[in-house]
This record gives sequence, structure tokens and C-alpha cells, in this order.
Amino acid sequence: TAGNKPAEKKELIVGTEPSFAPFEFPDKKSGEITGFDMELIKAMGKKAGFAKVTVKGMGFDALIPALDAGNIDVAIAGMSITDARKQKVNFTDPYYESGLATLVRKDNTTIKSLNDLKGKTIAVQLGTTGAEAAGKIEGATVKTFDTSDTACLELKNGGADAVISDLPVLQYFLKQGGGEYAKMVGEPTKGDMYGIATAKKNKDLADKLNKALADLKKSGEYQKIYDKWFK
Ligand code: GLN
Repeated sequence: TAGNKPAEKKELIVGTEPSFAPFEFPDKKSGEITGFDMELIKAMGKKAGFAKVTVKGMGFDALIPALDAGNIDVAIAGMSITDARKQKVNFTDPYYESGLATLVRKDNTTIKSLNDLKGKTIAVQLGTTGAEAAGKIEGATVKTFDTSDTACLELKNGGADAVISDLPVLQYFLKQGGGEYAKMVGEPTKGDMYGIATAKKNKDLADKLNKALADLKKSGEYQKIYDKWFK
């Protein structure tokens, strides 16, 4: 269409932590990393004129160092825009509103909200906002895992009383079978915005992606991808 620049014949290298369904996780059949974030960044990359979008999986806490080192161009991983991270990277405009929620075993009758977690053992994912929240709870023992899935497994095995993680991820986990042994308690937090990160020195790319995101929202493509994963 008019106004669109020709493709730049360039590759956009995307980093993610692929165990965060429904945002990024391996497709059961193909093994390829799929999910809301993946479809969104591929559409954004295309819109921004990149010929190819390549995804690299790594630990969540390795994403920002990988941006710094230039091993990836962007990180999209259900990453919350926080003040601390803003010191280290550029974020695009928010593309999804999330929040933190608490998961306990189904048979638990004593933990009804965050306030009941004092002195309890909480399983979290390394380097996340959930880990940070758990660290602030008085007397709590925080067990840290590489992925959200393994944190949930610890809950199942009785090694933790609760998991604190992102609401949409816990909701998806409950729907996919986790509901057999776990349930959500209390009110989730609000206003936790996900952003796509670029290296501090690469603000140009964040600007380009913002333009692409706005275009996809206008055209209805964003909504289509959203509905596919969340409706
Ligand atoms: N939104 C949370 C954070 O940014 C969790 C992200 C994740 O585990 N992929 O810390």
C-alpha cells in the first residue's frame, strides 16, 4: 500500500523464553515456537520491512544480556515494562495488559490471597516480576526455577505452597490440565504492561516496531492474533 517502504531484505533476530504459554511455547506437532508473542512479532517484523524473522530460545534472565551483546535484535517474552528494565533497554509501546496471580494446590484451604503467603514456600521463575513480588513477602521462602512450568511442577510435587506468576499464563496452564491439581486464589494485580525490548543503543528499531504495532492495530491484524489466543 501507499507509504510503505520496500522490504529491507534483512533478518530480525528475536529472543524469547519458550515455556510461557500461550505467549511462547513449542508447538506439539512441529516443535516450532508458537504463541501470541511469536505471531505478533512475525507480523510486526513483516510490517516493518524485515524479510525474515528468526526466533532464538534462551533463559528469561539471558534476554537482556543477549540484547546488550547484540546476539538478538529484540526480546519478546511476556516481558513486563518495569522501571528497572527501562534503565537497561528500550521498550516499545505496551502490547498486552497482564497482572500477577497466585496458584495453590486444589486441596489447600488456608491460602486465600497474597496476604496468606507470609512464611510460606513460593515457587517462581528466575528474573521475573513474580519472583520480585515473592521476595517482598515477609518470611517467605522463595524457590527459583528456570521456567514457569517447573515452578508449577514444584507446587504439584508438594515442594511449594504457591506459585506467583502472570495471570494469563496461569489461566492457560489451568485450562491445559493444571486445573486437576491447582487453583487460583485472590485478586490478580492489574496494569502490568508487556513491551518488546531492544538494546539501549537501538532506539530506531523500537520506533520502527511501534509504527508496525500501530499499523497492525489499525488494520485489525492485532485483534485477529489476540482473538486466536485469548478468545
Ligand atoms: N511478565 C513477567 C516478567 O516480565 C514474567 C515473564 C516471563 O516469565 N516470561 O517478569
